[in-house]
Amino acid sequence: MAKFEIDLNLPDVKILHIETTKINDLIITVKSTKKSTECHKCGQKITKVHGYGEAIMLRHLPILGQSVYIRLRPTRFQCDTCDNHPTTREDADWYNQRSKFTKAYEEWLMRMLINSTIDDVARKEDVSSEEVESVLNRQVETKVNWDTIEKLTYFGLDEIALKKGHKDFVVIVSARINDSVQILAVLADRKKETVKTFLDSIPERIKKTIKMVCSDMYDGYINAVKEVLGNKIKIVIDRFHIAKHYRSCLNSLRKQELKRLKKELNEADYAQLKGAMWALRKKEENLTEQDKEVLSVLFKYSPDLEQAYNFQNDLTGIFEQNISKCEASLLIREWIKIVKLSTLTCFEKFISTLNKNWNEILNYFYHRQRKNSGFVEGLNNKIKVIKRRCYGIFDINRLF
Ligand SMILES: [Zn+2]
Repeated sequence: MAKFEIDLNLPDVKILHIETTKINDLIITVKSTKKSTECHKCGQKITKVHGYGEAIMLRHLPILGQSVYIRLRPTRFQCDTCDNHPTTREDADWYNQRSKFTKAYEEWLMRMLINSTIDDVARKEDVSSEEVESVLNRQVETKVNWDTIEKLTYFGLDEIALKKGHKDFVVIVSARINDSVQILAVLADRKKETVKTFLDSIPERIKKTIKMVCSDMYDGYINAVKEVLGNKIKIVIDRFHIAKHYRSCLNSLRKQELKRLKKELNEADYAQLKGAMWALRKKEENLTEQDKEVLSVLFKYSPDLEQAYNFQNDLTGIFEQNISKCEASLLIREWIKIVKLSTLTCFEKFISTLNKNWNEILNYFYHRQRKNSGFVEGLNNKIKVIKRRCYGIFDINRLF
């Protein structure tokens, strides 16, 4: 069997024992090799070992798909100078005493939050949403060490909706540094001033290296970027951020319609709609037979929802195409036209946001095509397919 060594990247520890649990988690028992700590009372360096504290388990980065836990009994040192000879638990650079995770794992969770949500990350990693949220909250206000950064060709602003507390959002600032995505900072809120203050704190020499900003679809970010970094910076709103907005249109219509149906339908009929929410959220290609069944019942009771669902999928279809900015612009304009011809009002707010951020949204296609510059063939056919998808819902003649 091929074997290799992994650097756990945990300073000052020695591995004692490795075991695999029944559910295939990896538990690595380590021992600290630290020879001293600072007395919590007098602050002096103390070296006398008093014993070992309760074992703690810290979640660490996964290895080959297995969840990894580091098991450790922290050393307690005793002070001979202070009265009553108090003991102090050693500290380490690789975990916070308050956390159940190593710092490396916390960073991993944060990176997973980019283009995702607290609930999704929690579900994928099998941790609680509260834990993900508290990791996020701990990162707020951490200062960036700019000295270690040479250039930031691009960075991203992602807002994460919070679940508890008074705040609605925090903003994750990430950047590609030396070919890996790193979290630069977590901003306490999404106010334009907060974003501006952060951008202003970037040293001039680094500001000059920024070519592109990938941003969430929110005026505050876009204006802050333009004001601090100038108009020449290319701002791109990623499709994930756009989809988040138009999906919420369908979501609010779904809530409204299900509320109506709950009143109008008898209990047995309404019960047929169980699971409708999840089915609506799934990608078309991931629908099970049961999902399709639920949706067809739902759409029978709510033609509006069916139409909104189709509109949503049509727009997703456009974003999936490998087309130029110009062609995308044409197709999205057509989409807007068709949606406006319908009686649906749920996309109105989204359409005005779309118009307001038109250039930044279309930049997504610019970026995409540059990555796949070999692409030309079959373009017209692709456009025809999208047009058919869009027009399929309506009589095409009504448009002209
Ligand atoms: Zn002391």
